[in-house]
Amino acid sequence: MAAFLPISLPASRYAAHQAALDTAITEVLRSGQFILGRQTEAFEREFAAFLNAAHAVGVGNGTDALEIALRTCGVGPGDAVVTVSHTAVATVAAIERAGATPVFTDIDAATFTMDPDALWETISAYQSHPPTAERARLKAVIPVHLYGHPADMQTIVTIARGFGLSVIEDCAQSHGASLLGKMTGTWGDMAAFSFYPTKNLGGFGDGGAVVTNDPVLAEKARLLREYGWRTRQISSTPGFNSRLDEIQAAMLRVLLPHLNEENACRRAVAKSYDTGLARSGVALPALQRDCLHVFHQYVIRVAARDSLRVHLEAEGVPTQIHYPVPLHLQPAYARRGFIGSHGLPRSEAAAREVISLPISPWMETSQVQYVCEALSRWAPQQQPG
Ligand SMILES: *Cc1c(COP(=O)(O)O)cnc(C)c1O
Repeated sequence: MAAFLPISLPASRYAAHQAALDTAITEVLRSGQFILGRQTEAFEREFAAFLNAAHAVGVGNGTDALEIALRTCGVGPGDAVVTVSHTAVATVAAIERAGATPVFTDIDAATFTMDPDALWETISAYQSHPPTAERARLKAVIPVHLYGHPADMQTIVTIARGFGLSVIEDCAQSHGASLLGKMTGTWGDMAAFSFYPTKNLGGFGDGGAVVTNDPVLAEKARLLREYGWRTRQISSTPGFNSRLDEIQAAMLRVLLPHLNEENACRRAVAKSYDTGLARSGVALPALQRDCLHVFHQYVIRVAARDSLRVHLEAEGVPTQIHYPVPLHLQPAYARRGFIGSHGLPRSEAAAREVISLPISPWMETSQVQYVCEALSRWAPQQQPG
């Protein structure tokens, strides 16, 4: 049997595109321009075109992208933002950085993304509480396209509009994913992308982008990312510093044309897992109708998750848990956000049962088989018959 031999995703990515990346870096070094120059402008144009969006604004990282999008949509102190608890800490860190309070709603058990019915109930419950001086006003909703599966944007946007809320998509895990042929990142008012090295489109350092079709919002985001400068040294509005650098932008320009084909490789790996694990007794990832999934993660569910993890580790298969503790139960955020009376049972169950198997565009069929066989040596004890 082939050894599993895990290689880090960024290392595989560099190996796959080494010559072009080396050239791109050298060109930037020779250009003498390192921040917000020609490469960033070109990447912003190309990334917006890829998404079929009007504007992309390069920023320092994905968390900043969320914060800038929130602030651009007018979210600040005294405001509240509805999001999910089963997500990366970054989603809620950005809400708090913007000065706002998180309101948590539950996920759909099959896709792990925001459940529209729960969203409606959460907003209704929140609004029905008598308003108080210190009670934050709901301003926005952040659905997360977790693991690369699009959230149910048609319904979420309709509900949010009905309550007069902005929609900001967290696309840190969904570069190239679409719903009804329309890219994630173009359904809401704004979207935030991360180019952290392990993402589907990842650089070799930090990076992010804010995306929108609205020219006014795009201009506001551009001002926020650099001291509110329309003209250098003159702040027309208070801003800060969160910029995409030229080397990252140049490297992302090399990678972007390969994103669709690399996402297709991820789907092929996912399909091999689906086949190889069909009789294993573990719950496989769901794929909703009209969705193009980009499998940032391949996440299975199993009640005895921790025992499976130990077993796979012993077989030489590295796994990860995305995410082990829902945000509303984390020490930093417990008792800080609003939770409806139904609680967040599906988020809490997911945190207990999810386990991410290795996946990357460069994973070989033999490696997928190795994982499936390693898992099959464990599963029968859990699922008799
Ligand atoms: C990675 C990630 C972010 C944050 O991106 P950074 O670039 O690391 O700041 C935000 N949300 C989700 C869901 C993520 O996976």
